[in-house]
Order: sequence, then C-alpha cells, then structure tokens
Amino acid sequence: MTCVECKKELGYLDHKNAIDSLGVELCSHHHGLMLELIRKKKTPLEAIQLYYGLKEAGIQGMLEWWDGKKSIDIAISRVKLNIEIDSEYDKLTEDQAINQLEEAMHSFKNGFTTIRIPHILIRNYLNETVQNIIGIIEGLKANIKVIN
Ligand SMILES: [Zn+2]
Repeated sequence: MTCVECKKELGYLDHKNAIDSLGVELCSHHHGLMLELIRKKKTPLEAIQLYYGLKEAGIQGMLEWWDGKKSIDIAISRVKLNIEIDSEYDKLTEDQAINQLEEAMHSFKNGFTTIRIPHILIRNYLNETVQNIIGIIEGLKANIKVIN
C-alpha cells in the first residue's frame, strides 16, 4: 500500500483513514491536503476519486482549475477538456440545466469541451468512466491534429 500521490509507504491506520474518508490511498499529508481542498472549495468527493482514477491510468488532470470565471472540478489542459461532477444530478432544475448548457456553449466557443459526469457513475463505474474519458481525450487529440 503506497500513497497514489507521493508513493510513500502507508501504514495500516493512514490507509484506513484515507480509504474511509476519500476512498483513495493517500498518506496523511496528501489526505490532509485533499480534506482542505474539500473544505475550501467544496470539491466533490467523486472529483477527487476520478482525478486519482485518471492519474492511475496515466492521465494528469488538474483539480479545481480556475478558468477565469469559475473553478472547474477537473481540467485536462492538453486537450482543453473540462470535467464537471454533477452531485445532484437527479435534482437538476430547468434553470440549472439552461445555465449548464450556456456554460458549455461558452466553453465550446473558447475551444474547450465540457463534459458533466453524474457522481453515481464515479461511485459505481469508476473504471468505465475513466476508460470513456480516455476515449474522449484520444478523440480530442485527433481533432486537434486535424485542425493544426
Ligand atoms: Zn502522499
């Protein structure tokens, strides 16, 4: 058992604490940093789980990336992909839905692609979600090549 961030060897308690609270193998230092991020930025737990799922698959994203207007849950800057976690997908109002569509439109205009992922997918289908995001990244890379 090692920390997925710094590869430090984890003791039983550090491992148990991190798995119980975040579901990710982190040392007490990196566990603490993530708890701070959640407290300060209200980062969804699932964003952290997806961030590390992507990292383990070799995809380096950025958590809570500031795009100039708002904080993006996870950004993959190489391909200008923004990933937002929907924590209350089932309670989406029409006002929120039209705001999200408008945000997606603005980011498209700026060359960014935004995908929204319901948190339940990350809880129950993390590997499949990671695989699909990798596919989206490959597709975006291919499109970038065509344009250039
Ligand atoms: Zn660590």
